[in-house]
Amino acid sequence: MTPKSIKLLPEHIIDQIKAGEVIERPSTLLKEIIENSLDAESTLIDIHLIENGLELISIEDNGKGIKPSELPLAFCRHATSKIERFEDVYHLHSFGFRGEALASIASISRLTCDTTRENKRGLIKIEGGETKSHIEEDTANKESSTKIYIKDLFFNTPVRMKFIQSKNSEKNQIQKILNSFILANPQTRFQIKWDEKDKVIYPIRENLISRIQDVLKCDENNIYSKETIYDGVRCQIFITKSSSRGNAHKQQYIFINKRYVQDIQIHKIVLNSAKNLWPEAETGNYVLFLDLAPDEIDVNVHPNKTKIKFFQGPKVFSLISGTINQIYNEINVKSLPQSTAGTYQEDLIKTDKEIQYREFGFESTQQIDNYFDNLHASPSLNLQQSPLTEKKIVYESKKFILIQENDSLNCLHKHAFYNFHFLDLLKDINIKQNIIPLMVSKPIHIDINRAKKNLPFFTELGFEIDFIDNKTALLRSFPKSIQHYSYLSFIADNINLKKLDLDKNINLDFLEKFEMSSNILEEYLSNVSYITLKELNIIKQVDDIFLKKLYE
Ligand code: ADP
Ligand code: MG
Repeated sequence: MTPKSIKLLPEHIIDQIKAGEVIERPSTLLKEIIENSLDAESTLIDIHLIENGLELISIEDNGKGIKPSELPLAFCRHATSKIERFEDVYHLHSFGFRGEALASIASISRLTCDTTRENKRGLIKIEGGETKSHIEEDTANKESSTKIYIKDLFFNTPVRMKFIQSKNSEKNQIQKILNSFILANPQTRFQIKWDEKDKVIYPIRENLISRIQDVLKCDENNIYSKETIYDGVRCQIFITKSSSRGNAHKQQYIFINKRYVQDIQIHKIVLNSAKNLWPEAETGNYVLFLDLAPDEIDVNVHPNKTKIKFFQGPKVFSLISGTINQIYNEINVKSLPQSTAGTYQEDLIKTDKEIQYREFGFESTQQIDNYFDNLHASPSLNLQQSPLTEKKIVYESKKFILIQENDSLNCLHKHAFYNFHFLDLLKDINIKQNIIPLMVSKPIHIDINRAKKNLPFFTELGFEIDFIDNKTALLRSFPKSIQHYSYLSFIADNINLKKLDLDKNINLDFLEKFEMSSNILEEYLSNVSYITLKELNIIKQVDDIFLKKLYE
């Protein structure tokens, strides 16, 4: 594969990718530079840390290197070789894409980068963002490599430095980041040196389980492991048999498409599903790998937080708990009396051999029903169903539509309908519902005090909102059921209001300008109870006077 060359991101993409400051602490820095080495296809990564990275972080890799002539560009903000169009963000298999890490690091440290590629060597020295020297030279027969030495981190931002030094947790965090990369990349040899201690070496391993044993320091007999695949999602889980009380120094890792994430929801699902594997009130270590199509997840929602949004959460969550249940079932298969589970699953397998229901270890019909309810969760209107059988939309204007119903003609007032329907959807939102993450969101102007007070209100409704600063908020995700409405205007119009209340105090003015496409409208009308709409006077029978007016 010929590497792409480094390019500056176009302005508009810069605006779209509104990333916060990348480097908050040594562990975040470490994460960025290891990701770069892995993106460069390194099979050897050698790391040395002094004083938890504050004095020195050095990384040497045998990846493809940086073109010496492009070296200064690599340290420019928004310089990346990994994305050209905004759409690339969605399909990105590599780690970083913001093109900010090296620039940020170079601006808060004394940095040297020494890299070789295609028999050319480049050496650059940068202090506090200022380039001190840059040389290029030919080197015959040298393997490609990149060495980055980061000294005196935060030397020009002393406040931050103080903050870090006072934190004892930094070491743990660094260890966690290191372990996460070591675990997920058995194909790479890692060498880690802390201060002047001996190097710890993680040799290349052929499979995950061997690497997991290296990191969790236990042998294969002490690990339950299981792999399942369903509908394009692969779940591999490794759980230690030994356990203890409390959470200190627990090695619990979640990876999605090999990327380490800290997702509290998945963590809870794992602990909850695995609790039968451990004694009461104790937990063990686990490593979970989920692999799924990149367009089923959104990894870039929070640039700094390793958080993931799933487009089909329930499917993934069921797969995780199902996989762990299966471990449990296998352990207990001999000791347990014959349960109904077996027969039920056998029935399912008989009806459809293609689908591996067996993989799940469902224990009851109820569980299976729940699973499929969630799997196909779609916005429901919670109203009596009354299909628009004998009804036809015969005329549509900006304000109303005329519906022919048998022999009578009815008029639906669109905005009354939108108001009613939008509120109805909001009230019906529940946690099972699909949430859609937003990659790009228009900034919303806020009054921070009011917005903070109103945040729980929106969270409850299934919106996720981030405050960027005291004046700006970004919508990160919204409930799918309201996808046809201008949810952003809804937030913007309401976030600064005093005392929000769905029944009494809510601003739906934005719906005045809203226009739902008629086929969607038609689809909704075929679900929403026609009778309810009539009772609410949102649909009225048309009289002669009205008709006459219409024709005039
Ligand atoms: P990003 O990783 O988002 O592209 P960075 O600031 O982290 O931005 O890196 C900028 C560019 O420098 C990368 O796109 C890559 O081309 C190059 N680069 C950085 N580190 C390495 C490395 N260890 N080996 C090869 N190329 C690297
Ligand atoms: Mg990077």
